Amino acid sequence: MMWNHSGHLEAFLGVPCAGGILHTLNLRLHAHEIAAIANHARDRFLIIDDVLLPIYEKFREIANFERVIVAPYGCGSVPHGFLNYEELLAKAGDDFVYPDLDENEGAAMCFTSGTTGNSKGVIYSHRAIVLHSFAEGLVDTFGVGQHDTVLAISPMFHANAWGVPYTCTMVGARLVLPGPNVDAESILDLIVQERVTMACGVPTVWIGVLDALERNPGRWKVTETVRIASGGTAPPLSLIRGLDRYGLRIIHLWGMTETTPLATTGRLKRHMLEWPEEKQYEVRAKQGWPAPFVELRVMRPEGEAPWDGETPGELEVRGPWVAGNYYESPDQAHRWTEDGWFRTGDVATMDAEGYVKIVDRAKDLVKSGGEWISSVDLENTLMGHPAVKEACVVGVPHPKWQERPLAVVVLKDGAQVSGDELRAFLGKSFAKWQLPDAVVFVEAIPRTSVGKFKKIALREQFADWKWE
Ligand code: AMP
Repeated sequence: MMWNHSGHLEAFLGVPCAGGILHTLNLRLHAHEIAAIANHARDRFLIIDDVLLPIYEKFREIANFERVIVAPYGCGSVPHGFLNYEELLAKAGDDFVYPDLDENEGAAMCFTSGTTGNSKGVIYSHRAIVLHSFAEGLVDTFGVGQHDTVLAISPMFHANAWGVPYTCTMVGARLVLPGPNVDAESILDLIVQERVTMACGVPTVWIGVLDALERNPGRWKVTETVRIASGGTAPPLSLIRGLDRYGLRIIHLWGMTETTPLATTGRLKRHMLEWPEEKQYEVRAKQGWPAPFVELRVMRPEGEAPWDGETPGELEVRGPWVAGNYYESPDQAHRWTEDGWFRTGDVATMDAEGYVKIVDRAKDLVKSGGEWISSVDLENTLMGHPAVKEACVVGVPHPKWQERPLAVVVLKDGAQVSGDELRAFLGKSFAKWQLPDAVVFVEAIPRTSVGKFKKIALREQFADWKWE
């Protein structure tokens, strides 16, 4: 249980090479949930940052660790009763014999971020991580090499920071690990000071970064283009366009804890470089095409959906780094087809070029009077309005229509706009029945433990909304 830093990187490599399974614990979860996950996984040793010990104190009585080892990077001292990570390393001899491991043995483990409140464990084999690193390093995916300096903002406890620590180590890229300092200004400071060439993080991080750049003209000078691997949710088109203006170029990716996590990247194909700019942006906002060895298909009750960019269905994925089951969860077997496709729960379309577009999480689609409305499309268009910093759309129960969309909006500092103006703005791109019936302005949108908008919390908050 650590922030992103060098000690965590040591554990990423040392634990699996020593024959253990590195189970990264999400420090943003509720203490009881952390303990439940650790106990379920039968974790034996806890390596924890000294600054995170107050969290440990909240679950120490209910967790079953044999030893707790403290990494003394924050306060510099280790309280009585704990082992000191640095002292243990200093005492270690050089006679350790690395076990000869089968490539199919477990190397690492993560639990899904549990937006449904029911998180499930995924074990990554050595084979999966190595193959994933090869694919992630390729030119058409992340294109990482020894000349790169990569800033890993996505937490190392969220799908192994998207495999970036492994890929960068494999190719010899320089890694910049920000510790707990993941606010927009610290990120921009690091990008400039460390001459970062690539960074990875969820769109909510980049929304904050774009806002900081716009509010402080000239403060950060990015001299060379920085590739921004952005995944976890769809980046609004306005964000891709806005960051381009500052030399931050989004590479859109889609993946899941269950897919190690990289499955697609949305790069432009060669012939698309001739296309008008507007069309290129549309393509870059899609989740893209699968990495080598990954297969994708969009399934409907009657079979595979046509590649027309319009017909939605459930996205299924298969490949050498796609999980084949959840850890000790036989009740979840229905998530896989008999021939090994994983049912993602994402609703998507596939276009004639083979680009996937995620329409929504199945459970986030707004079901209005028998029709589906994509919350993602609405919120990403809203975030293109100059006054809007963040927007999240959720389906709220409605007496007549079953559900109707409600938009929750955070305005930019000092900006003003009314709900009706925003609805009129959306009306340029959406049919009337798709528009949110209500717009609520808030100070902040709640986030999940990995930085996505927490729709489940908003749905609960507005469950009793009185429609006019
Ligand atoms: P997690 O296991 O926490 O990484 O969550 C995986 C889920 O995040 C996927 O099933 C998608 O619903 C969502 N997701 C990941 N990447 C994207 C993306 N680029 N666009 C839209 N949704 C995404």
